[in-house]
Amino acid sequence: MRTERANAKINLYLDVVGRRENGYHDLVSIMQTVSLCDLVTVDFYPSESTRIVLSASGNSAMPTDCRNLAWRAAELYLREVGRQGEVRIFIEKHIPMAAGLAGGSSDAAAVLRALNHLCGSPLSTEALCALGARLGADIPFCIVGGGSLVTGIGDGLESVEPMPDCPLVVACMGEGVSTPWAYGKLDELHDNFAEDRPQTNTHSVILNEMKEGRLSEACKHFFNLFEEVVPAEQPYVNRLKAEMVAGGAICSMMSGSGPSVFGVFSNEDDAAAVCQTLRAMGASAFVCHPCAKYPI
Ligand code: ATP
Repeated sequence: MRTERANAKINLYLDVVGRRENGYHDLVSIMQTVSLCDLVTVDFYPSESTRIVLSASGNSAMPTDCRNLAWRAAELYLREVGRQGEVRIFIEKHIPMAAGLAGGSSDAAAVLRALNHLCGSPLSTEALCALGARLGADIPFCIVGGGSLVTGIGDGLESVEPMPDCPLVVACMGEGVSTPWAYGKLDELHDNFAEDRPQTNTHSVILNEMKEGRLSEACKHFFNLFEEVVPAEQPYVNRLKAEMVAGGAICSMMSGSGPSVFGVFSNEDDAAAVCQTLRAMGASAFVCHPCAKYPI
């Protein structure tokens, strides 16, 4: 039996720079795992045929059948390594769903790491990432964790220094956002990205400032293109951001395609107080910290 943390991710920078003929979008993003996590326990019993059993606690809305990415990851993994047997997966769900925090991708990545360990590590991390990419663009990042510069359609992954340690508040309120819907809104606004958007070096500026430990400077350059379209339809996004800044956040921004929002704080007390305020408003809110890569 193996239990893996499945950490949520936030995007410190997220720009969509183009759209391919097949509809996939080219990104430039800085992703960072945070300590808010699901716990994924996997058991593997080799036998003549494959059967997946998935159960969960913490969120009854999460599918527990083959619609669950973690389930599909288990099937894909066994097929890839030519093994058969019963896989039992238990997900203790804490990450809000459809929130731009990559909860599903992180659960799937945790299953891939756990099964690879239980099967004697036949796949290298690179091979595991290539396998994960077949299930979802965020999964290779979620296999590795820490900080990454992500380019292409999510397949270009360059590990970078993790964000300097700081208290973070991650919060969301209201309805979830479907990532394809959010991309559709960006497509409308940007004429289907018929012209590639000019690329800036802002992501390099952020990475350099963070490498030098100048988090406040880095925060000035945080950016998320989805803020052009999602807050207009999800008014809680701007309310949560305003509460975070009023409560002392150095900066606050939406993560991924939203609607979750994160705030960067310079002290634990402010972060804890804001978290309480947001919960009193009815939001799901968590104090957490940036994480390093998963141990391989
Ligand atoms: P991303 O940013 O990667 O698009 P997200 O964080 O916005 O993802 P998820 O929490 O991964 O969104 O959920 C998106 C949808 O995926 C959910 O509505 C749910 O039906 C489905 N899903 C499948 N497996 C999972 C899982 N293990 N955890 C959460 N949602 C899952």
